[in-house]
This record gives sequence, C-alpha cells and structure tokens, in this order.
Amino acid sequence: MVDQDPGVSRETILGGGSPTPAQGFDDTPIGAAAARASQILTPGGAGELPRPQSTRIITIANQKGGVGKTTTTVNMAAGLALHGLGVLVIDLDPQGNASTALGIDHRAPDISSVYELLLGEVRLSDAIQQSPNNKKLFCVPATLDLAGAEIELVSLVARENRLRNALDQQTLTDLGIDYVLIDCPPSLGLLTVNAMVAAKEVLIPIQCEYYALEGVGQLLRNIELVQAHLNPALHVSTVVLTMYDGRTKLADQVADEVRRHFGEKVLQTIIPRSVKVSEAPGFGMTIIEYDPGSRGSMSYLDASRELAMRGVN
Ligand code: ATP
Ligand code: MG
Repeated sequence: MVDQDPGVSRETILGGGSPTPAQGFDDTPIGAAAARASQILTPGGAGELPRPQSTRIITIANQKGGVGKTTTTVNMAAGLALHGLGVLVIDLDPQGNASTALGIDHRAPDISSVYELLLGEVRLSDAIQQSPNNKKLFCVPATLDLAGAEIELVSLVARENRLRNALDQQTLTDLGIDYVLIDCPPSLGLLTVNAMVAAKEVLIPIQCEYYALEGVGQLLRNIELVQAHLNPALHVSTVVLTMYDGRTKLADQVADEVRRHFGEKVLQTIIPRSVKVSEAPGFGMTIIEYDPGSRGSMSYLDASRELAMRGVN
C-alpha cells in the first residue's frame, strides 16, 4: 500500500544534510518514502540526540483502553534507540503487546519476566532481553502470569515500590540505558501504581476521538495521590495526541481541547492514524523497522526527538 501523504517534509528527516542515492526519485510519494528510509537506515543517518544527565524513567499511562499507550511506548523507544540512545521498555501489561512489538519472546515457558522481577525472584539483569531489531533497545517482557500479580502483590511488603526497588541503577548504567519507558495496562491498579512510583515522568497518550478526555481527570487525581504519598518527584511531563485523522473536524477539535487543557506539555508532533502502524506489531516490529519511510514512522521519530530535546532544555 502506498502512503499517499508523506506528511513530514523531506528536510525534517534529512536535516538539510548530504544528498542520498535515492534523491533523484523523491518527486513521487513512494520515492520520497524510499529516500527517507534509506537515509534513516544508514548507520547514524537519523542523527544524534543528547543523552540525558541521568536515566529518564517515563511511565506511559492512561486507564482508557486502546488509546495508543503500547504503540507510543514501543515506537518512541525505537525512535530514541535509532538516534543512538539506550532504551529499556518495561512491559507492565499482561497482554504482552509491547514485548510482541519489540520482537521479544514472551511465551517460552522458562523466561524471566516482569512478573518474577516484581515478586523479587529474579534480578533486573536476568529479566532484560535485547531486541533482535536494535542493539540499543531492551525489554523486560510480560507474560500472562502478570495477570495474577495485581492480587499477589497486595500481600507483599512495600507493594507499591516493587518496580522502583527492582530497577537497579548499576544494571542500567552497565547497559547504557538513557531512557526507561514503562507501558501500563488500561487500569489504575497496583501495576500502574508501581509504574508511577518507579518513574519521575508520566507521558499520557490521548486518542483524537470522541470522549478523548474522558477519565483523564481521574488519571490526574491518581497521579496527585501518588505524588503526595509515594513519589514527590512524579509529574506529567508529556502528552501525545494519537490516531489523528485529518479528514475529520472532530480530530482537530479534540487536539485543540487537549492543547487548551495541557498547554506546552502536548508535543507539537501529532501521530496520524495509519494502517501500517497497526500492522507492524504483527511482524514483531515497530513501525520504524517495518516501514521506516512511512508517515507513521516519521511522526514517531519526530515525537522521540521532541521528547529528547525537551528533556534537556
Ligand atoms: P490497551 O489499553 O489495550 O493496552 P493501548 O492504549 O496500549 O491499548 P494500542 O494497543 O497501542 O493502545 O493501540 C490500540 C489499537 O490501535 C491497536 O490495534 C493499534 O495497532 C492501533 N493503533 C495505535 N496507534 C495507531 C495509529 N497511529 N494508527 C492506526 N492504528 C493505531
Ligand atoms: Mg497496551
């Protein structure tokens, strides 16, 4: 399928740099996409981003289901990794969708997962797997066992701090991890609370659809509660608008409303609705690996750049 609308200018990705071999063909959408893909996939071709002074730990949360949490987690992770940054994705959803999208085996009977990590049965270094698609990208996978963890955690000591205590800084340093992105399940239960206690930042994906802000008030109140009682450093740092469909008026109205509500926290980059973005996980890939020159890939690359630049400024 041809992506009819390249969406992002060629200069955005090429940064005004040197010409590429595919440049002669880029007057068609498919040629432009090929040129962008060839540039991105050249080692160092995506350019470099500043490394944060210390590891940034970001929780991707919204208790509303299907708003793009997992898609945003894995594609921003891949975007940061493509720029040379070390990224660890923690899959905190029993569905294991983030693990799947990163090409990580999470169905084998004997793997160490985030479940054993939370229960204190394994160390972080034992539960981490490297993505087969990018050596800067790592994942602690989720297995179906995690579905029972919410109940099992209740009786454990320091039940809200299990993930924070498991994230041992030495392992993160040894692997060169600059970003930890935690993909939450669609609930505000103990798993999400663990993610909020472990992180400093919350990134909220909001779908450009009816009732986009429904439930966001409750999410913000929960963040305030965690901040007041468990993790004073926690704050909403970033909001990402997802699944934007430029053909509808509604999408623009939602985007405006979210910007009125969250102001500067909303990334300038809006993630478009694109079939390719939804196809990629089926191949164990992020959109950046599945179709690097596509609109979806470009927008997640732009979003990851914005995230990295904002953190440093
Ligand atoms: P859950 O609450 O179940 O964990 P989620 O918030 O993690 O869901 P995703 O799984 O990322 O949401 O996305 C929900 C569905 O929408 C998936 O099928 C995904 O492939 C699709 N999707 C996400 N982003 C896009 C996009 N930009 N364009 C088209 N489809 C998308
Ligand atoms: Mg998800």
